[in-house]
Amino acid sequence: MDQVVGPKSSGGKAYNQAFAREVYQKVDSGEEIKMCMQCGVCAASCPLREKMDFSPRKIFTLIRAGQREKVLSSEAIMLCTSCYSCKVRCPRKVPVVDVMHGLAHYALGLGYKPRVETALFGQKFWDNIYRLGRIDEKDVAQRYFLGHGLGQGLKLMMENKNMGLGMLLHKRMKVLPERPIKNIKTFRKMLDKAKAMGKGGAV
Ligand code: SF4
Ligand code: SF4
Repeated sequence: MDQVVGPKSSGGKAYNQAFAREVYQKVDSGEEIKMCMQCGVCAASCPLREKMDFSPRKIFTLIRAGQREKVLSSEAIMLCTSCYSCKVRCPRKVPVVDVMHGLAHYALGLGYKPRVETALFGQKFWDNIYRLGRIDEKDVAQRYFLGHGLGQGLKLMMENKNMGLGMLLHKRMKVLPERPIKNIKTFRKMLDKAKAMGKGGAV
């Protein structure tokens, strides 16, 4: 039975449960949403709330209401920065951050690209880890900028040069390229295996 009657606030509208079941079964940590009591603490704690089209609390409501397109094409699921404020404050111990990343991963796997820039950055970050076994910040940044095309990439580099110089000055970034870690081939095999299991890959 896919239809249930929603709360009075929804005007008693019938909710389609098919999408909620899809999330519970196919999205990493998706089943944890069942514990959400809609208190809104996660939304109030989220530093990105102002930038999100829907708060984490609202995303969970939309899932229960069967709003598949709205959720999977939402910018909010791509904006989460893993600050963990929501997860540590949730009174029902819902791993909100894990669900948000799980939804982003699931949406990208289905071909949705709610935020092209975030998807591009995630891909370059993943490529860097795969190639080196660690992050070379300047390499990720350059590849991300140039992923916008040569002209736009050079423009973005110039716009962000002060941040790069600041990172160099404060020793947050090295001038010379990073070298791959020892046993990089073994590390890549682990990543390949994780990806094949559907737990890894770019998000
Ligand atoms: S803090 Fe937890 S229980 Fe409250 S709305 Fe967010 S996920 Fe739901
Ligand atoms: S982990 Fe993500 S969703 Fe949670 S408060 Fe931080 S940015 Fe918001």
